[in-house]
Amino acid sequence: MNKPSDLKLDIVPVWINGRAVVPQGRMGEVYNPATGQVTRRVPFCNDEVIDGAVRAAAAALPEWRDSSILRRARVLQRFLVLLQQHQKEIAALITAEHGKTLPDAMGSVQRGIEVVEFACGIPQLLKGEYSENVGTAVDTHTVRQPVGVCAGITPFNFPAMVPLWMFPMAIACGNTFILKPSEKVPSASIRMAELFREAGLPDGVFNVVHGDKAAVDALLHHPLVNAVSFVGSTPIARYIYETCAKQGKRVQALGGAKNHAVVLPDADLEFTADALIGAAYGSAGERCMAISAVVAVGAAADPLVKLLETKARKIAVGPGDQDGVEMGPLVSAQHRDKVLGFVNQGIAEKAKVVLDGRNPGIKEGFFLGTTLFDDVTRDMEVYKNEIFGPVLVVLRADSLEKAIEIVNANPYANGTAIFTESGGAARRFENEVQVGMVGVNVPIPVPVAFYSFGGWKNSLFGDLHVHGMEGVKFYTRTKVVTTRWPHQDTPSAGLSMPTLG
Ligand code: NAD
Repeated sequence: MNKPSDLKLDIVPVWINGRAVVPQGRMGEVYNPATGQVTRRVPFCNDEVIDGAVRAAAAALPEWRDSSILRRARVLQRFLVLLQQHQKEIAALITAEHGKTLPDAMGSVQRGIEVVEFACGIPQLLKGEYSENVGTAVDTHTVRQPVGVCAGITPFNFPAMVPLWMFPMAIACGNTFILKPSEKVPSASIRMAELFREAGLPDGVFNVVHGDKAAVDALLHHPLVNAVSFVGSTPIARYIYETCAKQGKRVQALGGAKNHAVVLPDADLEFTADALIGAAYGSAGERCMAISAVVAVGAAADPLVKLLETKARKIAVGPGDQDGVEMGPLVSAQHRDKVLGFVNQGIAEKAKVVLDGRNPGIKEGFFLGTTLFDDVTRDMEVYKNEIFGPVLVVLRADSLEKAIEIVNANPYANGTAIFTESGGAARRFENEVQVGMVGVNVPIPVPVAFYSFGGWKNSLFGDLHVHGMEGVKFYTRTKVVTTRWPHQDTPSAGLSMPTLG
C-alpha cells in the first residue's frame, strides 16, 4: 500500500472503495502553520465525487452488516495494532498541518486509539435483551442493527482523534462510513484509511472525501446517507442538525465551547494554576475542552492571577516539531487574525491586560503569544465569544453560588471544572452545574473511551453523545421481536386486539 507521499503528488487524495483517487475540479491549499507555507493541495469534492463515495459505501453495506461480529472485531483489533505502530507518523502529520506540538499530537492520537480499543469489544457491546414468558409461551428479545450508510464531518483541531470518535464505532456496529475531515488537515484521515484497509477492512466500508460546504451539503442531502455525526463550531452544528432532522436522518452535532473553571479560595492555587495553564494554552487554545474562562471566587483571585501571569509568560512558543516548544502556531492566518481581533477588542472594552500576546516575536508562520485578561465582565465580547486561541479571561465572583450562576447563564455547556479542597462545594457544583462534562480538580474533564463525550445546550444538538455506549446507540437501531411458536398448546388467534398474558 502506498503512503500518500509515495504517490508523487502534492495533492492529498480522496479514498473511495479502497483506493486513493485524485478527482478533477476545485482545490484548496494545506499549510504548514509553523512556516506559513503551502505544503499540499486538497481536492474540494463536487456532487459527483460525493455520490461515488456514498454509492461505494452503500454497495459495501449488505456484506459488511451481515459479516459475523467476531470478524468485524478482528479487523478492528488489527487496525488497533497498526494505529499503535504508526502513532508517531500520524502525530507528525498532525503537527505538520495543524501546528500543535508533537507530544500533544501523540496524546490526541492516543485518545483516539482508545476508542478503537473500546470498539474491539463490539461482540459484548451489541448484546440485546431477552425476556421469557412476557405472555404465556411468548418471548421477547431485542437486537441492535446497523443504521446503514453513515457520514462524519470533523473539525480542524483534532485531525485524528475526532474522526476516531466516529468511524471505528460506526463500522464495528456493521455500518459503512464516509468521512469528510477538515480541509485544513486532510492527511491523517487518508493515512488511517490505508491502515484500516491493511487491517483487512473490505473496500467501500470506509471512505474519505474532502472539501468545503459543497461537499458537506452533498452528503447531507444524499438519499442513501442514513446518519450524520458532526463536530465543529456551533453555527455549523446547528445547520447540520436542522438540515438532517428535516430529512428524517439520524444526527448528532457537537458544537463550540466556552469552558469555565471555578476556583474557590480553599483550592491549592499552585496546583490549580499549573492545571489552568495547560488547559488554556495547550494546543494554542484550539481545543473544544480548553479552559477559556476562569471564575475566581473571593480571595482566590489576586494570588491566582499572579501565578497565572508568571506561568503563562514562561510558555515557550515555536514550531510544534521542535524540542522544548510548549505551544505551536494557530492553524491559519485567517484564524490567527480572528483571535488577534478579539484581543484588540478586549483591550478596547477595557478588560485589564495582564499579559499581551499580540507580538510573539516570530516572523514566519501563524503565531501568537499568550494573552491573559483580568476583571472581565459578562457583557464583554472576549467573554461572550468562543475565541479558540491562546487567550484566557478571568472573571471575579464573590461566592460559589454566583460562580455557578455565571457558568449556567452561558449558552455553551461543553465542559467545566471546579478547583477546591471542599467535597461539599464540589458535590454542589457537580449537582447544580448545567454542563455535559465536569472536572473536579481536573482541568480538561475528557471522559475515557468507555464513557461518552458531549456537551449540553449550544455545545451539542441531538440526543446522543459520541463513543461509549451512546456511540453504540447512535450507530444502531433497536428492533424488538416478540415470538410465539404455534405447536404449543395455546388459544387460537381471534379478531380482537391481541393481549399478552
Ligand atoms: P467548523 O465548524 O468551521 O468546521 C467543521 C467542519 O464543517 C469542517 O469539516 C468544515 O469543512 C465543515 N464546514 C465549515 N463550514 C461549513 C458550512 N458553511 N456548511 C457545511 N459545512 C461546513 O469548525 P472548525 O473551525 O474546523 O473547528 C473548530 C470548532 O470545532 C470550534 O468551535 C470547536 O469548539 C469545535 N469543536 C467542538 C468539539 C466538541 O466536542 N464539541 C470538538 C472539537 C472541536
